[in-house]
Amino acid sequence: MTYEAKGLFIGGQWRAASGAAFDDYNPSTGKVWASVPNATRADAAAAIAAAHTAFPAWAATPFVQRAALLNKAAAILEARQQDFVAVMGPETGSTFGKCMYETTVTPGVYRTAAAMTFGNTGEILPSAYDRGSMAVRSPVGVVSVISPWNFPMILSSRGIAFALAAGNTVVLKPSEESPVCGGLLFAEVFEEAGLPEGVVNVVTCGRDGVAEVGDELVANPAVRGISFTGSTPVGKAIAGKAGSLLKKCCVELGGKDALIVMEDANVDHAVSAAAFGAFFHSGQICMAVERIIVARNLAEDFTEKLAAKARTLKVGPTDDKANVIGPLINARQADRVEAHIRDALAQGAVAAAGGGRDGLFVPPTVLTGVTPQMSVWRDETFGPVAPIIVADDEQAMVDLANDTEYGLSAGIITDDRERGMRVASRLETGMAHINDSPVNDEFHAPFGGTKDSGSGRHGGRWAIEAFTETRWITSANGHRQYPI
Ligand code: NAD
Repeated sequence: MTYEAKGLFIGGQWRAASGAAFDDYNPSTGKVWASVPNATRADAAAAIAAAHTAFPAWAATPFVQRAALLNKAAAILEARQQDFVAVMGPETGSTFGKCMYETTVTPGVYRTAAAMTFGNTGEILPSAYDRGSMAVRSPVGVVSVISPWNFPMILSSRGIAFALAAGNTVVLKPSEESPVCGGLLFAEVFEEAGLPEGVVNVVTCGRDGVAEVGDELVANPAVRGISFTGSTPVGKAIAGKAGSLLKKCCVELGGKDALIVMEDANVDHAVSAAAFGAFFHSGQICMAVERIIVARNLAEDFTEKLAAKARTLKVGPTDDKANVIGPLINARQADRVEAHIRDALAQGAVAAAGGGRDGLFVPPTVLTGVTPQMSVWRDETFGPVAPIIVADDEQAMVDLANDTEYGLSAGIITDDRERGMRVASRLETGMAHINDSPVNDEFHAPFGGTKDSGSGRHGGRWAIEAFTETRWITSANGHRQYPI
């Protein structure tokens, strides 16, 4: 399987990129899988100009027509599901199950955004004067969407779909690790859907040029909004630049999510929640379970069962559908995961399962004897590693969970729902799920983090807020008497 790129998608046309093509690697094999157009700053500027030109007509398009086009894109995504599955496996090291999951749910992003066009409401305000007064929402203009590689379809789509629903136009820059399934295939979908020229533009570029292209996508005066999903250091730099230019910016960043297993938890359920949360997609999920805090009375049973489960998960290349743990995305990432495991073992942790590495493949690893000082407990690992700390009471659990720079999501396993609510309300996270893993997403719900996990929310009406300006409009009855 390979992919013949048609070019960058700018103003409804496929155009050659100004830079020399870059290589897209298959992490399962280490071989080049596709050759991808490499945009320069000038190409990014051309895409922004096309989006800027398309903006007035798209903003003026009746919302029902915008909704119809979003629904059409959803239908095309469904019809082309296997095209995306065939690309996502080799391009991103996603297992067959993960590809099927992501391709099945992504059309829902567009359908939810289409529904939101009906809910893009303002408010009638009281006024002390003889006039009508209202708060209305207007699209901001051109929105730059910069997306990561790990869930390339969902994470490109949530930036695009809600921005379009609100009447904005878009320039999408997918990750250099997923330029096809996170970008160029979407350009084909929007072309087929008949989206007007320039409403969505797609530019792909390699790692070497991303700082330049990224700078253009933020600093260009025609860009009025930025949707960034990715790592915390890059997101902070982008949010800082956007802030200095007074542009709207929604940044969804890294995480170090805790799964809290309380003393009344059903151990088998807790083990399933932990295994799914820590190991699905080799732990390369922003909401992955990266810290497990377990009540002392359950610790031994829980650890044994989680380690046993970890050993059953088959690791290997993603062209074999039996494998449920694929490779990590690249050597940089595998080095980081290995460094976290080695640091933990050197400081006295014990691997109850896994603990090694074979190239880009890291088997599911369960670590006990972990302390809060270890890098595996402090820094985002983004790999299939489940570090466990035992805690004695609810206060200690909450303190451990909150002792992090991150604040994305959390899971609390307890059969006592009232207690679960009490703990959830004390966690410093943007999201918390009781009796569930932290890994959760519904496209109409507010998705996002606190602290170093980001600011702004994707999903539902919160995404509409992120991609619109609220304006105050009054309409006076008669002629006002002015004092001068
Ligand atoms: P990354 O930060 O390396 O890349 C994300 C995007 O930013 C890519 O498109 C990349 O090309 C681009 N980029 C890189 N440098 C840039 C620059 N200087 N200017 C502009 N753009 C630039 O992240 P990644 O490795 O693709 O994804 C993994 C990270 O993303 C993890 O930290 C993960 O937790 C996070 N993530 C967060 C969420 C969320 O919703 N909170 C979702 C998925 C992933």
